[in-house]
Amino acid sequence: ILVGGGAFYYVTQQDVHPGDQLPSDPSKPTLVVLGSGWGATSFLKNLDTEEFNVVVVSPRNYFLFSPLLPSVTVGTLEPRSIIQPTRFITRHKKRKVSVYEAEAREVDPIKKTVTFRDQTDIRGEAGSVTIPYDYLVYAVGCENQTFGIEGVTKYGCFLKELSDADKIRTRLMDCIETAAFKDQPDEEVDRLMHMVVVGGGPTGVEYAGELHDFLIDDLRKWYPEVADRLRITLIEALPNVLPAFSKQLIQYTESQFKENRIDVLTRTMVKDVKERSVVVQDANKEIREIPYGLLVWATGNTSRQITKNLLAKLPETQTQKRGIVVDDYLSMLGAEGVYAIGDCTATQYAPTAQVASQQGAFLAQMFGKLGQKAKLQRQLADLRASSSDPVELEAVVKKLNRVAKLTPFHYSHQGSLAYIGSEKAIADLPFFNGNVASGGGAAMLFWRSAYISTLYSVRNRTLVMTDWLKVKLFGRDVSR
Ligand code: NAD
Repeated sequence: ILVGGGAFYYVTQQDVHPGDQLPSDPSKPTLVVLGSGWGATSFLKNLDTEEFNVVVVSPRNYFLFSPLLPSVTVGTLEPRSIIQPTRFITRHKKRKVSVYEAEAREVDPIKKTVTFRDQTDIRGEAGSVTIPYDYLVYAVGCENQTFGIEGVTKYGCFLKELSDADKIRTRLMDCIETAAFKDQPDEEVDRLMHMVVVGGGPTGVEYAGELHDFLIDDLRKWYPEVADRLRITLIEALPNVLPAFSKQLIQYTESQFKENRIDVLTRTMVKDVKERSVVVQDANKEIREIPYGLLVWATGNTSRQITKNLLAKLPETQTQKRGIVVDDYLSMLGAEGVYAIGDCTATQYAPTAQVASQQGAFLAQMFGKLGQKAKLQRQLADLRASSSDPVELEAVVKKLNRVAKLTPFHYSHQGSLAYIGSEKAIADLPFFNGNVASGGGAAMLFWRSAYISTLYSVRNRTLVMTDWLKVKLFGRDVSR
């Protein structure tokens, strides 16, 4: 794996020494990229920056490898093992890229400007800035869906950002320590040791699996007095968990959860969230309260405010509430020069990392062609000015025609994977014209190697593998 990783690293680094980067050039168009998630990072990785002045704006100055985030909540992986600074990619680009840790507040598709605000805690003099763009790659992702239930944000934990994983870990250890406190009443121990996960999508399922491992592998050793009081409940509104996976894998996951004593409440919808309990409605429309110590909310995503505002500015062309409508080339309808990728779009594809990263790579290729086109046009103008020979002119014209040809975006599904606990994973993989569904230890090995090879850098691969080894040898760290 290391040799493969090394080769990957060598090939993907475009080998421009940071000191040798071209400076920004006012004669080139400005390309603003909003975001540093799967879509934006894949775009930046694959982009040839020579023909553009690239500006990246994102509230976090790093890329987070989100599929491994559930592992951080219980300490299987260290937080820094799954992040990579955005500058790690941009500092090797041909032309200098400006990276700002800032939150984009507004996009004006008519004036073609973006306004963004300093995101750091220490605010400098320049708090908010508006810059013009020629091209905008809009990859801001989305935010957690709460269905307007106020208690979710107040008392629950999400599982989207690195800070969420940290919050979950702290709350989890708080619950356990408080449950183990001297003379804690029995009923209170039961509440504190009840971990409730809302949402049976891959996020909720993977978290429940990690929590189970933590209980079996570590809690029993370190907190024998309360460990066996720990209960995990997964609440899902639909008739089954993991609706995007095949029936066989859904059954496998549910039976595995049963074996691991994870309670799965299907056809049960959370209606309200209180400080110490959730209010649910079951299939018989009966309402009841379930006390909890830790609540993890994983019910999917919704558009960010900036996206809602942008959609409202183009009511005639942007008619989908769920996100930005793009054409086959990922160009936003009604907004000249704006391209949208990833979870902020409303397409036929599921909002997954795989889709976002393929869209990013596709768009980078398109911008590569735009850059080539600009170069060839300059070459053609020079040739014409020097009245060069027609054969040479013809060759450049041919090249220009070839570059101008674009093919629409095509998504190629590589399969779905999810970790379900106890060293088992599920894998739904396309195979020729059918599907191969696999669950268990072999799928777990596949899950591990697939994620290791998808991690963007040798540094991350080494850190993740070291963390796995550390947990095998010494167990997880239970300190807060
Ligand atoms: P999701 O949208 O896939 O699942 C959310 C679940 O919550 C749904 O099944 C929904 O029925 C349920 N739900 C909603 N409101 C509820 C309520 N009030 N009470 C009870 N249940 C409720 O969300 P996710 O798991 O965060 O995934 C988001 C996207 O990211 C998906 O497209 C998913 O495929 C992708 N993803 C994939 C992986 C993977 O492949 N391993 C991992 C994480 C996320």
